[in-house]
Amino acid sequence: MHDLGDYSAEHTLRVAVDKKPEAWLLKKRTHSYLRAEICADCGFVQVYATDPAALWDAYQTSLSNVE
Ligand SMILES: [Zn+2]
Repeated sequence: MHDLGDYSAEHTLRVAVDKKPEAWLLKKRTHSYLRAEICADCGFVQVYATDPAALWDAYQTSLSNVE
Protein backbone atom coordinates (compact mmCIF):
# COMPACT_ATOMS: atom_id res chain seq x y z
CA MET A 1 0.00 0.00 0.00
CA HIS A 2 1.39 3.39 -0.92
CA ASP A 3 0.73 6.89 0.34
CA LEU A 4 1.48 9.74 -2.07
CA GLY A 5 2.89 12.59 0.00
CA ASP A 6 4.55 15.88 -0.94
CA TYR A 7 6.38 15.89 -4.29
CA SER A 8 4.65 12.60 -5.12
CA ALA A 9 7.22 10.70 -3.06
CA GLU A 10 5.94 7.20 -2.31
CA HIS A 11 6.03 5.77 1.18
CA THR A 12 4.92 2.32 2.17
CA LEU A 13 2.43 2.60 5.02
CA ARG A 14 3.26 0.79 8.22
CA VAL A 15 1.86 0.57 11.72
CA ALA A 16 4.01 0.13 14.81
CA VAL A 17 3.79 -0.98 18.44
CA ASP A 18 6.51 -0.14 20.95
CA LYS A 19 7.49 -2.94 23.30
CA LYS A 20 8.90 -0.36 25.74
CA PRO A 21 6.87 2.81 25.09
CA GLU A 22 8.18 4.56 28.20
CA ALA A 23 11.84 4.16 27.18
CA TRP A 24 13.69 7.29 26.03
CA LEU A 25 15.56 5.71 23.15
CA LEU A 26 15.24 1.94 22.88
CA LYS A 27 11.50 1.56 22.54
CA LYS A 28 11.91 -1.74 20.68
CA ARG A 29 9.47 -0.75 17.96
CA THR A 30 7.78 -3.53 16.01
CA HIS A 31 6.41 -2.69 12.56
CA SER A 32 3.90 -4.33 10.28
CA TYR A 33 3.21 -3.31 6.71
CA LEU A 34 -0.34 -2.59 5.63
CA ARG A 35 -2.29 -3.90 2.70
CA ALA A 36 -5.57 -2.48 1.44
CA GLU A 37 -8.59 -3.95 -0.27
CA ILE A 38 -10.54 -1.45 -2.37
CA CYS A 39 -14.09 -1.87 -3.68
CA ALA A 40 -14.04 -1.09 -7.41
CA ASP A 41 -17.67 0.05 -7.32
CA CYS A 42 -17.76 2.55 -4.45
CA GLY A 43 -14.12 2.99 -3.46
CA PHE A 44 -14.56 1.66 0.07
CA VAL A 45 -11.15 0.76 1.52
CA GLN A 46 -10.34 -1.80 4.19
CA VAL A 47 -6.84 -1.84 5.65
CA TYR A 48 -5.11 -4.90 7.08
CA ALA A 49 -1.83 -5.27 8.94
CA THR A 50 0.23 -7.97 7.22
CA ASP A 51 1.69 -9.28 10.49
CA PRO A 52 -0.88 -8.78 13.27
CA ALA A 53 0.66 -11.53 15.42
CA ALA A 54 3.94 -9.60 15.70
CA LEU A 55 2.04 -6.46 16.79
CA TRP A 56 0.08 -8.44 19.36
CA ASP A 57 3.29 -9.98 20.72
CA ALA A 58 4.85 -6.50 21.00
CA TYR A 59 1.76 -5.22 22.79
CA GLN A 60 1.85 -8.10 25.27
CA THR A 61 5.55 -7.43 25.84
CA SER A 62 4.83 -3.73 26.43
CA LEU A 63 2.35 -4.65 29.18
CA SER A 64 4.90 -6.80 30.97
CA ASN A 65 7.56 -4.05 30.67
CA VAL A 66 5.56 -1.58 32.77
CA GLU A 67 7.34 -0.94 36.05
ZN1 LIG B 1 -18.49 -0.97 -2.60
